Amino acid sequence: MDYRLQPTLVTIKNSSLTKAIAELPIQLRNKLYIMCFRKFWREFIPITAKIPSWYSSARQQEKELFDARQQNIHFLHLPCNTLPGNKRYIVGCQCSSCTKDHSKDEHNLSFRENPYYFTDTIPWTITKWNNRYDHICSETEYGYECISHYPIFDPEYDISDPLQVKIHKNEVSFS
Ligand SMILES: [Zn+2]
Repeated sequence: MDYRLQPTLVTIKNSSLTKAIAELPIQLRNKLYIMCFRKFWREFIPITAKIPSWYSSARQQEKELFDARQQNIHFLHLPCNTLPGNKRYIVGCQCSSCTKDHSKDEHNLSFRENPYYFTDTIPWTITKWNNRYDHICSETEYGYECISHYPIFDPEYDISDPLQVKIHKNEVSFS
């Protein structure tokens, strides 16, 4: 018995095919072994090379977070965090629920009078989602230097002019 063939024979040990192959000359068995493994490796995709099952939902979540930053929607008002019926107005939030809220002007007035109104009305967190900016820093020879401020959430969005208004307010002229 050729012990090099033994591991493959173990899996189909009791089949009549195994017995028939075992009766073949050794050179033919080796050729069959090589052919079968070539075919196997042609079709085999290792699990590390496959797209993970969570990948599509992770991409969707990343896109949702990116869009929320662009549209100034608070993290709490993302569809994955709060059901539409449970949403309470957050100053500056531009989600569909907050933009339709009737008490919007009242909250904005309170925020104008009290700059801490935003932090007082939302749950406290150690995460960055209540911050205005995400500071992107780079390490220099003298320490860390902030190179960019990526906006997260601006509670003054409704009070101060949004970027679109700022752009269209002052007409740019060229001479
Ligand atoms: Zn909202």
